[in-house]
Formats: sequence, structure tokens, C-alpha cells
Amino acid sequence: MRNRTIETLKEIGLKVTPQRQAILKLLDGNRSHPSADSIYRQLLGEYPRISFATVYNTLSKLAGAGKIQELDIDPIKKRFDPRTALHYHFYCTSCGRVFDVACETPFLGTLDPAGVKTIDGHRVDAIQLNFKGVCKECARKQRGS
Ligand SMILES: [Zn+2]
Ligand SMILES: [Zn+2]
Repeated sequence: MRNRTIETLKEIGLKVTPQRQAILKLLDGNRSHPSADSIYRQLLGEYPRISFATVYNTLSKLAGAGKIQELDIDPIKKRFDPRTALHYHFYCTSCGRVFDVACETPFLGTLDPAGVKTIDGHRVDAIQLNFKGVCKECARKQRGS
């Protein structure tokens, strides 16, 4: 893991620092689609001198290089996803959590993003498909109260 973080940082032209390595470590396997702000707050305990700009710029660089995904799903802040393989997202308007939605979900299975190269003559570089609503946990709580 340690070597991989160093390699990734070097690859995208960033100086290797313990703070930047910690950002990558925190992202590794992280399924919560964290925002820059939440990553910053989680690292403050261990790295009291880390700056929000360092966190934000590192995430932007990683996203620009395709190492992580930047999601436009939360109306308030950008969210980041270390999983770069194609998948879709569900945003809960009640708790703000972002969940992965598998491409194999029945009606999504008919959509073949790999086959969508152009649309109305425009070149397609990326597809983001976002679902919004109330997650099952919040729905259960709302029914219970
Ligand atoms: Zn929820
Ligand atoms: Zn995701």
C-alpha cells in the first residue's frame, strides 16, 4: 500500500508527503464517496497541520488523471470515488449518503455505455447517471416514526 501511494503521487506529478499518502490511504477501498471536506476532517486528528487546499488540490489532481472519480451528484459538494470502473450512483436526499448502483440492475442492463460514442452528433467522453431519492434506511425510519 505504501509503495502504491508513492507511485500514484509520482505518476501524477505531486510531491510525496505523508499527508498526501494519508489521503490516498483513506480513499483506498472507501465506499462512502467522501467529499474533500469530510476527508480533511478525518485527517485533522492525525495531521493537525494539513490544509484544506492540500486535500482539495490532491483530490482534483487524482480525478484529473483518472485515478479517482469526481461525482456531481451531491448538490452541495463534490464527492469522490476511488472506484473508477463504470457504475452508477444513488443519492439520498434525506441523509446525504451516496450509494453504488450496479450496472447489472435489470433496466440498466439494457444500457451499454461502451456503445455510446456520440449523441446528437456530440462526442461523449463520460456518462454519469444519478438517481436521487430516499435510501432504504431513511425510508424505514420515516415509516417507523
Ligand atoms: Zn438516507
Ligand atoms: Zn461509486
